Parts: sequence; C-alpha cells; structure tokens
Amino acid sequence: MNDEFPFFKRHPALTYLDSAATSQKPQSVIDAVVAYYTEDNANVHRGLYKLAYNTTETYEAVRAQAARFINALAASQIVFTRSTTDGLNLVASGFGPLVVHAGDEILVSGAEHHSNFIPWQQLAKRTGAKFVVAPVTQAGNTDPAAIGKLLTPRTKILALAQVTNVAGGSVDIRPLADEVHANGGYMVVDGAQAVAHMKVDVQALGADFYAFSGHKMYGPTGIGVLYGRSELLAQMPPVQFGGEMIDEVQDQSATWAEVPLKFEAGTPNIAGVFGLKAALDYVSSLDMAAVADHDHALVTQLRTGLAKIPGITLYGDDQSIGIVSFNLAGVHPHDLATVLDEADIAVRAGHHCAQPLMARLGVPATVRASFGVYNTPQDVAKLIAGVDEARRFFH
Ligand code: PLP
Repeated sequence: MNDEFPFFKRHPALTYLDSAATSQKPQSVIDAVVAYYTEDNANVHRGLYKLAYNTTETYEAVRAQAARFINALAASQIVFTRSTTDGLNLVASGFGPLVVHAGDEILVSGAEHHSNFIPWQQLAKRTGAKFVVAPVTQAGNTDPAAIGKLLTPRTKILALAQVTNVAGGSVDIRPLADEVHANGGYMVVDGAQAVAHMKVDVQALGADFYAFSGHKMYGPTGIGVLYGRSELLAQMPPVQFGGEMIDEVQDQSATWAEVPLKFEAGTPNIAGVFGLKAALDYVSSLDMAAVADHDHALVTQLRTGLAKIPGITLYGDDQSIGIVSFNLAGVHPHDLATVLDEADIAVRAGHHCAQPLMARLGVPATVRASFGVYNTPQDVAKLIAGVDEARRFFH
C-alpha cells in the first residue's frame, strides 16, 4: 500500500500518524495534478476552443463522479469549494439567513471542529437566534441523547460532524436528521473525517447539506465538495460575486447562473478538481469494509498499548474511527509531541480546532494519532514505545 504513496519513499524513517489533519497522496493524485498543468491547462466554462471544451467536460464529469461518490441524486447538487470550512461557511452565510431568524435556535455538539461551530455561532449573533451547544459524552464524543433533548420546534439548523476529529466518534445522523426535519429544521453534516473511512450516502443520512475536503481523502489541498438538496441550493443566494456565476449583468442589476455555477465565482481550482478525480477513483477502489477493519485494528492496538502506560488518559472509545486522542499525566501534549518527533513519529498535539471540546474535557490540549490506509501495526507499536520512552524521560 505504501508503494503508492511517494511521500514514504522520501521519508522512510518517518511514522506519519496525522492523517486526520491531512492524508498523504497516492502517485495517481499527484500525477493527475501534474497532467492537468502539462496537458489540459485551460480555463473552464469559457473557451470555445477544443482544449477548453475538453477541460470543462472533465471538470463537470468530476462533479458527477463526486455526486455518485456520496450517492447524491444529481451532479447539480455538488458545489466545488475550497474545503469543508469553505462549504460550511457557504451554507451558514448563504442558506442560514433564509431560515434562521431572531428567537430561533441553531444546535451543534460540543465536540465540533471550529469549522462547524464558529460559522453557526456567528450566524446566531447576526440573526438574533440562540446558539445551543449540546453536552458531550465523557469520552468527548457527540451525545445523540443530549442532542435529542435539545431539539425543539425552534431548532432551524442542526449541524454535526459525522465523525468527530478529536475523539473520533461517529454519529448516527439519520435519526437526528429525522427529528430535526419533523420539527421543520435542516440537517447540516460535516463529513471531513468520514469520507476516507466509510461509505457515505447523503440520502440515507437524511443530510440537507454535506461538506468534505479533498485533502483528507488522499486528494489535493484547496478543493472541497459541498452537497446540498436541490431545492435548498436553488433558494440559496450566492455569497461571492464575479465571473462565471452570472446569467446577465447590467449597470444596476445582475441575475445568476443556474445551480451550482452561481456558487463558483471566478476561476475555480481546476487542478484541484482533476486531483480530486484521482482521489475519488482511489477511495472508490478501496474495500471500505476492509478500511474499517484496518482502522479498528489499529485503534484497538493503540488504545490497548497506551492503556498499559501509567498516567495515560484516553479519550474516545474502541469504536473511534481511525483516531486516538490521549494525554500523559504531568506532560504537556506539545512536549510529548516534540519528544515523539525526535523519534520520527509525527502526531498532532493541540486543541485540534476544538477549543469548546477541550474546555468540556478540562484540558488545554491532547495528543492525537490518526490513521490512513498506509499505516501499519508497526507504526502503532513504534508510537506506543515512543510514549513509554517519553514517560520515563519526563517522570
Ligand atoms: N471538520 C472536521 C471534523 C475536521 O476534522 C476538519 C479538519 O481538521 C475540518 C472540519 C476542516 O477541514 P478543512 O481545514 O479542510 O476545511
């Protein structure tokens, strides 16, 4: 598996355990980006010459492929964005004001990444709505029961990560989507940590909007996908204006292109879309049941090994999806990560863009190891040994 990822040839000694931040890229993704610039470089949706036409065809074919990837009904339900963050901000600033008014409520979990937290917090401030943050489980995961208790007829938006990025818990979205819909609200799902680890079906989830990033699923940075239900995208006004998103412009007025082009102002990240195509091909070629087994085996091995080390606190649980967060008593996570780095082990330490969760867990930060398809039991064993070594060093 590692042979497909040239990064590991350049860094043979490095144990990379930070795929939740960004995954490494298979050669096919790198080749696709290079091939765009060397062979297909033309702007999309404008040129009448053959090359521009063909590049536009490919760009639009990737949109259709992205739709199939998450079982959307139509390519027009896919907006190319920069990232998950960009997609969630588009929904909060474009769709949010259509449905959220003073006195309404927006509900999120206390385990959300800032990308699925601050856009809603700020929308609530702008509209006079109440921003409700649900308690989390002791393990630091989204608590569906707590969400259920806080859902009311005033809840206009429920925004949840399908897989959280600190404790790695996956949320059973469908029942919550049904509840919010029964109350007349909308379900927004942050899929950043899900798409590389499980088969996603936006219709089965009952998602009104679903956002994810290319770079966390073996694709390039700077390209993301926002799915939206057709009737909602049709109502939603654009929030960025410029080339390509218009129908007709006069001195004092303008009308917009059809969905989804009205949301893609300016020259898009065409190379990113070509790279995303290779990433979609790559993930689609994986056996997702085998990916889940592999994630589970590594998570279990790491949790079991760390639990034997005195002073370790583990967050999440055995069901965490490819993520293990932990702390070592008396050692700041940054110091632990620095010592691990000396041993060529790359883990993330910090608040993981989830400060509200850190506050709930009562810690400033955690150390987080996260897995991709290329990680092995040897990587996990090296991390466990590294943490044990660090404990002896610090204590
Ligand atoms: N949501 C979750 C759960 C994440 O883990 C991340 C990134 O770590 C994001 C959103 C933001 O993704 P991006 O930085 O690609 O916009």
